Amino acid sequence: MTNDEGMPTPNDKISARSLRAASDFVIRHLSLVWHSVICRSSFVLLLFTPALQAADNLGVLGSKPKWDVLEHYQETITQDEFSQLIQNVYCTHGLAPDLIEVNTDTARILTNREPQIFFTLRFAKNNASRNPVPHLWHLAKSLSQAKGDKPLSGLRIALDPGHLGGKWAKMEERWFQVGNTQPVQEGDLTLKVARLLAPRLRELGAKVLFVRNSNEPVTAKRPDDFRELARKILIKNGVPQPRADVLDPNDPEKEETIRWQSEILFYRYSEIRRRAALVNFKLHPDLVLCLHFNAEGWGDPNNPTLTDVNHLHLLVNGSYLQQELEFDDERFEMIRRLLSRAYDEELPLADAVASAMARETQLPPYQYPTTNSTTRVGTSGYVFARNLLATRLYRCPVVYCEPYVMNSKDAFARIQAGDYEGTRNVNGFDRKSIFREYADSVTDGLIEYYSKARDKGD
Ligand SMILES: [Zn+2]
Repeated sequence: MTNDEGMPTPNDKISARSLRAASDFVIRHLSLVWHSVICRSSFVLLLFTPALQAADNLGVLGSKPKWDVLEHYQETITQDEFSQLIQNVYCTHGLAPDLIEVNTDTARILTNREPQIFFTLRFAKNNASRNPVPHLWHLAKSLSQAKGDKPLSGLRIALDPGHLGGKWAKMEERWFQVGNTQPVQEGDLTLKVARLLAPRLRELGAKVLFVRNSNEPVTAKRPDDFRELARKILIKNGVPQPRADVLDPNDPEKEETIRWQSEILFYRYSEIRRRAALVNFKLHPDLVLCLHFNAEGWGDPNNPTLTDVNHLHLLVNGSYLQQELEFDDERFEMIRRLLSRAYDEELPLADAVASAMARETQLPPYQYPTTNSTTRVGTSGYVFARNLLATRLYRCPVVYCEPYVMNSKDAFARIQAGDYEGTRNVNGFDRKSIFREYADSVTDGLIEYYSKARDKGD
């Protein structure tokens, strides 16, 4: 597992601040303006980065792109298909022609600013003359026809339970507690779902791999390893003398502290990049299922707001912001992902899983408040494209599930009820445990997709 986590040098483009949209947030790379975005209950200030520099221009903990890799994709895609994917999936917020220029026979992608160097991608003349697309994962339709009770035979499925949980849950801000009830920790809930899901998928013939199977991080780094980088990020973003520590969870200026920044560098950037290295260089799955629970702003984690709002959505990679495409590594990763055609597999998969989950959970689709970072895709009404670190970096189809608002009154009661077999009366209705309903509905979506996709009709 090599260099997917190179430490940025001081010249690297280190991003601004956290942009939180509803459930999961990513540090976005914004320049020139101060942005405020709704974040759970408060407004988060986004600091800006100064003018772009010619030197390494990378995202947080990003590594230098290997542009030569794209040579393997020469003449594997037609101009028409490339343009469709750019317009409808990946660059739905527009595209600066000095970064990616689409011509009749080629696309020119900027690889270096000074001097200006471009990678030239040659399009296939037509579908018949296309070179095969290289990838390590298997398309559903390339697998042999599945036997009746083993629709997932021959498939490698990696389960990625979101976050860490356990003793890290408070640091991750994925923790709340109502009175003396059991604290809700997203990282524990997602692991519980993964452990219920794994045997179900194995029974159906899949080889199941865990990206995380404990409350410990995959990365060997810890927040203290990032203190110096955190300090540089803050100084670069207009906090000349950053404070060392956070006063308490409600400290309004906590994000301007070295503590808070070094923690997010650990649990988000370092952790997800290590998970990506594990997926890409060791596990080699045909599909990654990222398992999450959603939330609405809960305010004080020790006195959280419970809401009547509850919903479901799924994410696939896409919908890059123009500012994100300025980063060399993100531009490269987007193009590599586009050319790998992961989307052709992950979109219908996400639609099938979303439909099964909608049917079984009875949850309405989420209405994204931040339409500038997401684009609705597919046919189910529940799937959005969004550029998250995991959906971008895992080099295979990735379906990212966001069912249930943990701090909705209904989901909260069901989480408190814990896991159980069969049904129980919760909130006046007989229901499965929330964990089994999650695992069962994902399983049903996979059965539907793979049974159909592998049916050769003979
Ligand atoms: Zn999550």
